[in-house]
Amino acid sequence: MDLRFSPEDEQYRQQLRTWLEENRPQDVPPKDQDAEFAYRRVWQRKLYDGGWVGINWPKEYGGQGATLIQQAIYGQEMTRARAPQPANGLGISIVGPTLIHHGTEEQKKRFIPKILNADEIWCQGFSEPNSGSDLASLQTKAVLDGDDFVVNGQKIWTSLGQYADWCILLVRTDTHAPKHRGISFLLVDMHSPGITVRPLKQITGNAEFNETFFDNVRVPKQNLIGAMNEGWRVAMTTLTYERGISSLATQVRIKQQLEGMIDYARATRRNGHVLSHDPVYRQQLAQAYIRVEIMLLNLYRGITSRLRGQPPGPEASLDKLYWSEMDKWMQEFGMELQGPYSQLLHDSKYAVAGDWQYNFLRSRAGTIYSGTSEIQKNIIGERVLGLPKG
Ligand SMILES: Cc1cc2nc3c(=O)[nH]c(=O)nc-3n(C[C@H](O)[C@H](O)[C@H](O)COP(=O)(O)OP(=O)(O)OC[C@H]3O[C@@H](n4cnc5c(N)ncnc54)[C@H](O)[C@@H]3O)c2cc1C
Repeated sequence: MDLRFSPEDEQYRQQLRTWLEENRPQDVPPKDQDAEFAYRRVWQRKLYDGGWVGINWPKEYGGQGATLIQQAIYGQEMTRARAPQPANGLGISIVGPTLIHHGTEEQKKRFIPKILNADEIWCQGFSEPNSGSDLASLQTKAVLDGDDFVVNGQKIWTSLGQYADWCILLVRTDTHAPKHRGISFLLVDMHSPGITVRPLKQITGNAEFNETFFDNVRVPKQNLIGAMNEGWRVAMTTLTYERGISSLATQVRIKQQLEGMIDYARATRRNGHVLSHDPVYRQQLAQAYIRVEIMLLNLYRGITSRLRGQPPGPEASLDKLYWSEMDKWMQEFGMELQGPYSQLLHDSKYAVAGDWQYNFLRSRAGTIYSGTSEIQKNIIGERVLGLPKG
């Protein structure tokens, strides 16, 4: 494993760092969720104008054709600069790459440019109330009627559904075939008659995702991606991109939060002494520091094996399991550090620690999306340790 970056890669880092210094918004993002989404849309347009959206996409589709290392650097630098997330996150990370792989030329021409400049926002309609981990058991049905599919059913957890113009939708088109074989992959206009989107408020107070209902929604046949009943294969491409290499950016984020906790422990006195001198807190801070550094080394190990030509393997499950469980532990520790102040939300005038309470509540989501911790453990057990299937 080589822990150094090449001079070319360091130059790439510097170029992006300079661009971010000149262009990153300096104001505080709005607290209101709708206003914050609009703010991120403006930011994405700025990134687009600078050529900094979809960097891993091929150049002919508006990307930079960035290498794996450049993608890693991009994630690290964006987080280091505390830049906002672009509005069309799912469009950039999973929809565009899936269309580039499986779309027809006409579909690519129609949909791809508007993803990068945030003109059209995308959501992902995969999960259903009874089909999450066991996604292939999905029940939302589509039946061909002339030149259209007619879609009926319900999706859930649809992130950004309330803002989306388009959705990648998995539907059952053959109810008799084995469950992985009767699924098709559609692009659905979210403004079509028959679609109802109901935001779900989370424990954090935000409504990040939605219930989405489809009642006789007509979807033109030309919006089918890949072959009819072969949507599972297309969905696997989407999920591969969903479990991409964003964990390096996550590592920087968690490290920034830990630095905040260390500063807080140094500056705060409780029970007659500075918190950072308390042996229990000291040990926990040291433990947190070690865990965050181990995360980085594991990620570098994964990237090194990819650079040596090995395909992405089950190490993505190790990374996901490791960071999401560590994040939960760290955010809980952040609450402990605050003592009784942990009961106050950031908008209280007595609150002492910014968005730590939000981070604590939000950290639970990380162990659920993109495959729950139990599912990751199953993958590690079966494919890394060679244990029998449960
Ligand atoms: C913040 C967030 C955003 C999301 N955004 C989207 C989105 O935009 N689009 C979308 O389609 N989906 C989205 N999801 C849904 C996500 O993919 C599912 O929540 C996830 O796949 C788990 O499915 P489930 O919630 O139905 O839980 P279930 O699959 O019902 O699992 C319930 C419990 O059983 C356990 N379990 C299930 N199967 C096994 C097994 N075989 N072995 C051991 N334990 C098992 C699970 O680990 C879990 O603890 C999002 C989720 C979150 C939290």
